[in-house]
This record gives sequence, C-alpha cells and structure tokens, in this order.
Amino acid sequence: MPVKLIACDLDNTLTENAFILPEIKDFLQKIVNRGIKFVINSGRCLKEIRRILLESKIYPSLGFPQAIISGQGVNIHYLKGEDYVADEVWNKEKEEQLKLMQREIGWEGIKWEKLIKEMNLFPKEKRISYGSFALKFDREKDAKLARDVLIQKNHIKYVTFLRNKGYITASLSTALKGKSLARASQHFNIPASQVLAIGDSQNDEDMLNGKFGFLSAAPSNADEEIKEIVNKNGGYIALQPIGKGTIEAINSFLLKNNTYLGKKEFRL
Ligand SMILES: [Mg+2]
Repeated sequence: MPVKLIACDLDNTLTENAFILPEIKDFLQKIVNRGIKFVINSGRCLKEIRRILLESKIYPSLGFPQAIISGQGVNIHYLKGEDYVADEVWNKEKEEQLKLMQREIGWEGIKWEKLIKEMNLFPKEKRISYGSFALKFDREKDAKLARDVLIQKNHIKYVTFLRNKGYITASLSTALKGKSLARASQHFNIPASQVLAIGDSQNDEDMLNGKFGFLSAAPSNADEEIKEIVNKNGGYIALQPIGKGTIEAINSFLLKNNTYLGKKEFRL
C-alpha cells in the first residue's frame, strides 16, 4: 500500500535548533508535489510551529504542511489557502477537556509531588500550580522512573504524563499525537495503513506504537525505548540523525511501497 500521508514530529526529528534545513524543505516539497500529504505533529503550540516554518522559509503558499497538529494533539489546523483553519469540533472538545484536566491537576498535583519525593527523586525544576504540572530532572533515568510511578498511581481521567528527555509534563489523555493524527487522516480520507508517522521521543509513542495502525519510523538519535517501539511495530530506524534520518526513513517507505515515484528523485 503506498504511503499517502506523512506525519512528522518537529524537534529533533525534523528540526535542529528549531530550524528546518533548506535541503529538507526541498525534499518535503518534492513529496508533496507528488500528492503525498505532509503533517507536522508537535508538542509545541501553533504559534511557535508557524514561526519555525516561516523562519525556515516554508510559507503556506508552498502548499504544505497540509495540517499542523499542536500542543500534543490538543489542536488541529488545516491549510486552507494562505491560512491554517481550526478543526473546530476537535479543538473545541479538547479545549473543554483541557479545562477538566486542569481541574484534576488542581486536585492531585500535590499528591503527585509527594509520590515523587517518596521515590527519592528530586526534580531540578518544577511548575506545579492550578492547571499545570511539569518537572525537570537532570537525569533522563530519573524522569523515566518518575513518569512510570505517576502513570501507575494516577487514575485520573483526563491526565496522562509525557516525557521528553528529562522533562515530564501532565498532558491531556484524550488528545495525544496518535489520536489526533487518526483524526487528521480521517479528515483527508486516508486509511491508517497508508499513514507514516515519524518521531524521536516518548511523547511520540502514541503515534509510533501501532495502536492506530500507522506505519512508523525514527531517526538514529531517537530514544532507545522509541527505537524498540518502532522495531516492534515493524517500522524503520534510520542510520542518520534528525532531518537526514527522517528523509532516509521516508525514502525507505516510498521506495518499498510507492515504486511509481522513481528512485533518484528522492535522494538528497
Ligand atoms: Mg521530538
């Protein structure tokens, strides 16, 4: 089955220091010109993602990305003309649920903090207040342990915990990258089996683990546990890091499944 939609995490999957290199932009333009949809799926907010795109000279007039999923799946926007318009039904529902999540954090935040302390884990920085719960650990290992215990002990409906390197943040459990990507691919009428998701860290797990039926890939710099997840899902682990690795991964799927695209054109 040919790949018809590619969804990519931004930081350390596509961008290095919040910038998309010109050769990567050109590559994306080529695949989009061949009718493949390209979607950004990032934990960053829409405003930041659009700033990074503009600084990388990726303007809406180029025709991609056709959708931007932001805030760990909370918001979806589709490219329409020169602008990005909201998936109103989805965004409104998630906004409501976000309020409920913030209330849950208000009830439980202190309890979670205590749990971490009992594990002898001490975050370097923390932001725990009504509506927000974020911790930063020096060691990735500690963040992993802390997240494991938080996930195990938390039975709250709208909260889950995401980790990115040493950072842990409470996030909306009913959004996340996989669920929101399923929503966007439905919008484009593309079955999950023709969607390729690419990411590098734990907050990408939801779209890489096969739960929604997407194909998956990771650049060489991805977290070891993410590589394992992608491997288990029969995905592709690139030999190269970040943007180059992402291109390598896309090429491997296109050459395997989209034979009509021609080999040479997709090389950097
Ligand atoms: Mg990333």
